[in-house]
Amino acid sequence: MEERSYHGSCFCGAVEFTVSGAPVQMGYCHCDSCRQWSAAPVNGFTLWKPDAVRITQGADKVGVFNKTPRSYRKWCKSCGGHIFTEHPGWGVTDVYAAAIPQFPFRPVLHVNYQETVLRMQDGLPKFKDMPKEMGGSGETIAELPVAA
Ligand SMILES: [Zn+2]
Ligand SMILES: [Zn+2]
Repeated sequence: MEERSYHGSCFCGAVEFTVSGAPVQMGYCHCDSCRQWSAAPVNGFTLWKPDAVRITQGADKVGVFNKTPRSYRKWCKSCGGHIFTEHPGWGVTDVYAAAIPQFPFRPVLHVNYQETVLRMQDGLPKFKDMPKEMGGSGETIAELPVAA
């Protein structure tokens, strides 16, 4: 079977990339770092094996910032648009769902929900930090009713 590929790009289009095959995991992260870096209340993430993500154009325009050795955040030096974050310790690359608009984003969990600023009622499991297999406590938080 041929692997499906989806096209992604930065805000201005100078940097283009593709993701191929199926992601390892999809969900929402509510952590402080994701919120600050993405300037949004929640980050929709898709995690891929590093070799499933390929930069096809504008590799010389890609800037990198790593506050910690766990995360290498990549962005376009022309427009400042974020493209993805490499997590070498976990062996995955987090491609922001918003950067691959044609990809069918089907989140299955919430992580770092203890840090949330935007409660959601979607019936999906809400992990306090991370699932056990990703090095977290595996504890979940009950969904609280959203104030009317
Ligand atoms: Zn750009
Ligand atoms: Zn996060």
